[in-house]
Amino acid sequence: PVRTRFAPSPTGYLHLGSLRTALYNYLLARSTGGQFLLRLEDTDRTRLVPDAEQNIYDSLRWCNMTVDEGPETGGKYGPYRQSDRKDIYQHYVQILLDKGLAYRCSCSKDRLNSLRESAMKLKPPTTVTYDRKCAFDPQHSHTSDDSVIRFKSPDKYEQFDDLLHGKLDLQPQYNYNDRRYDDIVIMKSDGLPTYHFANVVDDHLMKITHVIRGEEWLPSTPKHIALYRAFGWEPPSYVHIPLLTSLGDKKLSKRQGDIGILSMKEKGILPEALVNFVALFGWSPPRETPGVSTSESMTLDQIIKSFSLDHLTKGNAKVNDSKLYFFNKHHITLAINDPQKFQELVDSNFDKFHSFSGGKYNKDYFAKVLKYLGPSLSSLDEIETLHRYIYEPVNYAELTKIPSPDFVHILDRLLHLSSTSFDENVKLLLKENPELTKKDIFQTVRFALSGGTSGLTIPLLIDLLGEQEFKERLTRATE
Ligand code: GLU
Repeated sequence: PVRTRFAPSPTGYLHLGSLRTALYNYLLARSTGGQFLLRLEDTDRTRLVPDAEQNIYDSLRWCNMTVDEGPETGGKYGPYRQSDRKDIYQHYVQILLDKGLAYRCSCSKDRLNSLRESAMKLKPPTTVTYDRKCAFDPQHSHTSDDSVIRFKSPDKYEQFDDLLHGKLDLQPQYNYNDRRYDDIVIMKSDGLPTYHFANVVDDHLMKITHVIRGEEWLPSTPKHIALYRAFGWEPPSYVHIPLLTSLGDKKLSKRQGDIGILSMKEKGILPEALVNFVALFGWSPPRETPGVSTSESMTLDQIIKSFSLDHLTKGNAKVNDSKLYFFNKHHITLAINDPQKFQELVDSNFDKFHSFSGGKYNKDYFAKVLKYLGPSLSSLDEIETLHRYIYEPVNYAELTKIPSPDFVHILDRLLHLSSTSFDENVKLLLKENPELTKKDIFQTVRFALSGGTSGLTIPLLIDLLGEQEFKERLTRATE
C-alpha cells in the first residue's frame, strides 16, 4: 500500500508552502487507499520553536486532514517524534560504522574552519571541504565531547527518477581530490542524528513508499539515495514539487508570519476554501472526473476523488489572494446549504462574533446572520468589518450621503402607515406620493437600517433586526 508522510521540523508555524506539501502527501494516500503519517523532525534542537508542534497538529486538524499514524495518534512504527528515536539512530549508525561506511571525526572546529577557507579559495570554489583525515588516520580519530560521525560518501552518485521531473542527474563536477560530495555528518556530538540520516532511516523503517516534498530538497536527494544504498535498502519514489511564490514573486518564506495557516482562520477563511486553494498550487484537476464537476471549486472529498500524481504541474505556483476569497465565498455558500456544516460554522465562529458584538446577541441571532448574509461574504470577518449595523446602532451623523431629499418624510410616513406588512406600506406610500419611486423608498430604508450598506434585501434586514429595532432605527434616522 502507498504510505506517505508529512515530516515538518517544528521550527515555525505551518504556512501555505508546508500545508501544500502535507496536502499532496495526504491526497496521494487518501486517493489510493494508503496511509498518511506525520513525523516530527526535531533533531536540530537549536531551531525549535516551543509551540510549533502544537501549531502543526492544530493546523492539520483545522484543515480536516486526518493522520493515520503520528505523535498524537501513535502507530505501529513509532515513536513518530525523532527526538524520541535516539536509540534507533544509534543502532543504525553503528551498522554503517561496522561496515566501514562511516567514521568518527574528531577534527577541531579550527581545523574544519581552515579547511573550509582554503576550499573557498579554490577556483571554482568547492563544496567538498573535509579532507577525510579521520578516515585515513584512525589514530587521529577519537571519541570526545565534540566528535561527530561522518558518512563516507561514494565518489559517484547515481541518477534518480523523480515522478514529476523524470530522470535527474544532480552530480556536481569533480571538484576536490576527485570527490564530488562532502562526507556529511550523520550524527552530531550531542548524539542526535542530522536531518539527512534520520530522514532516511525513518522513511525506511516507517515503510514510506512516496516522498513528496518541495524542490528545495532536490540537492539532498542524491545524499539520501547514497545512504539507502549504504544500508542496502530500496529508496522510496520521489516527487519534488515546485516552489510557491507570491504574486510579487517573493519567496513565501520571507512573509511566513502573515500566512500562518491558523491566521487564515482569524481572517474568516474557511478551511475548505484554504484546502481548495492550496491544492491548486501545482496540481490541476483532470478535465473529466466521474461524479465531480469540472469547476475548480472543490470539496476535500472531490479533490481526493480526482487527485493523481499525473496532474501535478511543473511550473512555480503563484499565490493569488483574490482566488482564495473566490473559493471562500463558494465554500461559505456550500456550508450554509448543508445543515451539519452550517451548524459547525455557527459553533466554531460564534465566540468571535459574541466578543466583537459586545456579548449582546445569542447563537440563534448569529445563525440567522450567517444564513442571510453568508452568500454575499468573501470572508467571515466581513461581518465585523463591513456589516457593523447588524450588531451596532447606525451612526447617522457619520453618514454624508443622504439617499433621497425626501428621506425624513418617507421614514415618517412608513412609521405611521397602518399595514403591518412592509410591502403593503410601500404600496400605500407610493400611492400617496406619486412623485416618489420605489428606489427612493428602498434606499431610504436601507440607509436607516444599515447606513446604506448593501448585502441583504430589505425584508431580510427587517426580519433579522426584528420589528422593534426596525421601528427604532427608522425613528432615530429622522432625528
Ligand atoms: N524536515 C524536513 C522539512 O522540514 C523534511 C523534508 C522532507 O520531506 O524530507 O521540510
